[in-house]
Amino acid sequence: MTTGSTHDLAGRVTDEVDRLTDRLVASLVDAIAIPSVNPRYPGQEYDKVVGAEGDVSALLADLYTEAGADVGKVTVERGRDNACGVIHGAGGGRSLLLNGHVDVVPSGRLDRWRGDPFRAQVTDDTVIGRGATDMKGGLVAAAYAALALRRAGVRLAGDLVLQAVVGEEVGDHEAGTTAVLEAGYGADAAIVCEPSGRAGSLPAVVPVTPGLLWFSISLEGRTAHSGLRGMTIHPTLEGEHLGVNTIDKFWLIYHALRGLEDEWARHNRHPLFPPGYFNLLPGVLRANPSGILVPFFLADELTVEYCVYHHPDRSNEEVMAEIEDRVANACRNDPWLREHPPVFEWKLLWPPYTLPRDSALEAAVLDAHTIASGGQAPVRTGFMGVCDLTWMDRKGIGGLVYGPGVGYTAHAENEYVEIAQLAQSAKTYAMTAINWCGLAED
Ligand SMILES: [Zn+2]
Repeated sequence: MTTGSTHDLAGRVTDEVDRLTDRLVASLVDAIAIPSVNPRYPGQEYDKVVGAEGDVSALLADLYTEAGADVGKVTVERGRDNACGVIHGAGGGRSLLLNGHVDVVPSGRLDRWRGDPFRAQVTDDTVIGRGATDMKGGLVAAAYAALALRRAGVRLAGDLVLQAVVGEEVGDHEAGTTAVLEAGYGADAAIVCEPSGRAGSLPAVVPVTPGLLWFSISLEGRTAHSGLRGMTIHPTLEGEHLGVNTIDKFWLIYHALRGLEDEWARHNRHPLFPPGYFNLLPGVLRANPSGILVPFFLADELTVEYCVYHHPDRSNEEVMAEIEDRVANACRNDPWLREHPPVFEWKLLWPPYTLPRDSALEAAVLDAHTIASGGQAPVRTGFMGVCDLTWMDRKGIGGLVYGPGVGYTAHAENEYVEIAQLAQSAKTYAMTAINWCGLAED
């Protein structure tokens, strides 16, 4: 390193980020222009979409090279390259990993966007486009943090590892984060650069993520002519041997799970999440007479799909058992559902993650954020969604989320990131690297 006090060093690094911010924004615009929709996202045609993720990784790889990293590619599926860079420390320090995902979700309804989601609009203080918040902003900020360190003449003691990975948006970590860790691009601790900010505020420090479950419930009914409905629903008349409408039956299950959701809001609290955050969302409902979408028959088919965010102190298995139990209870008093129980399919199980209290990494990030912001301590909060910290934890690497972006615009139309958050994140990453990895002695 060049000599000087830590204070001078912080000043040099943050000045470099300020000088680089226009370029950082330009790189983000370039990254957004590559429509790297996850090819395994529901509704996508894999062969048409695959390849763009690898192009974003290549863009990041060039920035890693410019920052002085040894760059490698890890590829599990063709066209879906992960890019990794290692800036080797002089030795004797802890290593730090900065991770981000290159894939994005589809753009949603184009008529609700103010412009083309893949042609970013840059205003005085924001960049608008698909992936601006989730999370090309964080990816690019991490690369520019490394570049600022190099330009400021900082030589770290420990390694700084940069990862641009595919697959996160569908939990396909086997092709992304897990693959690069297995290829040897690990570190002593990690920052996942996912968005942790709100509108008009700096990024928060996020040491905890909820568990995520995706499941479907299917019900079987008995179809009949619509004119027979009265006979089937009033027990004084013919009853269910004539017909059973699955849509009526579903409300028993709906109310049972809605009740569970209320219980969670009242009794299942966590200090870093707002009360009521943990929830069960019935997000997809399909019900109809077999193969025909007209209301002239009783619906004999029904599938509902739920997305669940649960308390990080509870295991997926515990919550799955609770949900199945509630549904079974709701069905117990219904003669039809007792004989024709709902069928569960568990589609995605994403375990929660909590960084242990008093983590040295968190202390390093808190300090870095405070320096980078000119004295403002960061907010601590839980993560709105799930992220690759879960899979890093499986490989023995602890970490936290910190990154630019306005969480509620992720996956939404007119997704945007604030430029002040991009610069703040790059500064915090660079100062964390100094705090955590230490400086080379010479
Ligand atoms: Zn994300």
